Amino acid sequence: MKIYEKAPAKINLLLDVLGKRNDGFHEVEMIMTMVDLADRLEMEELPRDTIIISSQAGYIPLDEKNLAFQAAKLIKERYQVRKGVYIHLDKHIPVAAGLAGGSSDAAAALRGLNRLWGLHIPEKELCELGAELGSDVPFCVTGGTAIATGRGEKLEPIDNPPQCWVILAKPPINVSTADVYGRFRVDELKSHPSAAGMVEAIRHGSFTEVCDRLGNVLETVTLRLYPEVAQLKESMLRLGADGVLMSGSGPTVFGLVSKESKVARIYNGLRGFCKEVYVVRMLT
Ligand code: ATP
Repeated sequence: MKIYEKAPAKINLLLDVLGKRNDGFHEVEMIMTMVDLADRLEMEELPRDTIIISSQAGYIPLDEKNLAFQAAKLIKERYQVRKGVYIHLDKHIPVAAGLAGGSSDAAAALRGLNRLWGLHIPEKELCELGAELGSDVPFCVTGGTAIATGRGEKLEPIDNPPQCWVILAKPPINVSTADVYGRFRVDELKSHPSAAGMVEAIRHGSFTEVCDRLGNVLETVTLRLYPEVAQLKESMLRLGADGVLMSGSGPTVFGLVSKESKVARIYNGLRGFCKEVYVVRMLT
């Protein structure tokens, strides 16, 4: 039997860091949602007790470093599955971009293997397994829109934001999430974005308020290290995006746009100097 599972990219409408914990992780408050840019996983049962990963993307690990491999290994061990699986990752989400591509692949593998092997694991338990693989994985298991706290694994679902166009642009640099968190200093922040304010904006269904409330404290690190990310934000705003923010630890910048008539102009303007630009919708 062969099954397919979609693994959408996430964006952070808000990312706040409240402090560093004793276990080395940071205490965060994030509002995350999914966009319609997705990897596609094809999973096929193998009679041999083995996990094989393949992908057309030449630049990701295909061994035990791959998060989909780790998800399959974890579920096999925990539920004593003696069968094997072949997973093909049809990658569309840019790698190391701040869009949780690897985490979403891991989540899709958990969901898919639960189906493929008829394990009937409840979603809550899949999220707990996901948390062992990475802080963003539980959100990628559930999808939708949620406030994430703790190190990102405690989730509270909220309404979806108002539908709009989302323009994603990734400058040609690789940003390490660990490096950005390592350099982040909470006492250097002048202010924190308001998660409560963003939740209210979403509850009102107000696109303008959502744009006004966007905030990501990791911009203080990434924009200083990579001025081209700040320039990309400025260009998107100048070209007419209604709200602009860096996603995760970057370097991808997203712009929210309500009017379809503006989208082509922004896309073409960005493509003049940035190769990787995507126009998608919120996944609502
Ligand atoms: P996040 O937003 O959660 O920090 P990201 O979008 O910045 O994630 P990923 O695309 O998940 O980053 O990739 C981070 C690293 O994980 C890459 O350098 C890659 O080598 C490794 N990796 C492991 N598995 C995968 C996968 N299935 N897809 C992409 N990268 C993977």
